[in-house]
Amino acid sequence: MPAPDDTMLPPPAFSVCVYCGSRPGRSTLHAEHARATGRWIGSHGGRLIYGGGRNGLMGMVADATLESGGTVVGVIPEALVTQEVAHRACTELHVVATMHERKRMMAERADVFLALAGGIGTFEELFETWTWRQLGYHDKPIGILNSAGYFDALLAFLRSSVEQQFMNDWQMNLVQVGTEPGELLPALVQAAGLPGADRLQAI
Ligand code: AMP
Repeated sequence: MPAPDDTMLPPPAFSVCVYCGSRPGRSTLHAEHARATGRWIGSHGGRLIYGGGRNGLMGMVADATLESGGTVVGVIPEALVTQEVAHRACTELHVVATMHERKRMMAERADVFLALAGGIGTFEELFETWTWRQLGYHDKPIGILNSAGYFDALLAFLRSSVEQQFMNDWQMNLVQVGTEPGELLPALVQAAGLPGADRLQAI
């Protein structure tokens, strides 16, 4: 029997947990990158795991993933269904009892984590995922998409924290920072070591 042709294999299945703003932000680049993130996930046969809302960048990532043929798993606490406008078009919409349950389900179902621009909800999710990684609770890649320099000031502060010896380079290097969704996403998926991930191309 001939060896299977690697180029004929379906694209790898992977799940990207995206943390991002429930608002669109001022720069139009945030919306552009949120849509590009969803398009990349969908067009590479991936699955988006996210907070299940329709507002802001969250809704844009979800819509772009669905429009590009991907699947979308939304996880939203019951109390936020109205406030955050639960996205009923999700492939799977899980309405859970608490915020802790949301975060646990999102983290369990993800292969990689990516933070886009956002507010305190996004920061909290990013930092929790980062601290869990440093403690060894998971070993999944984490990325920050620094669109329009949004995270510059935070990254500068974190580097000053290393200088002040409250953090170290190993901790800083647990997070990959990028400026282009089409470059950062394949790097994260490849770092997760999923089979076939080396065949992923930037769009
Ligand atoms: P924001 O970045 O503040 O616009 O919020 C983005 C998302 O983070 C929203 O879906 C919020 O519900 C969610 N969020 C807010 N607080 C938390 C929290 N403590 N843990 C997890 N997610 C949160």
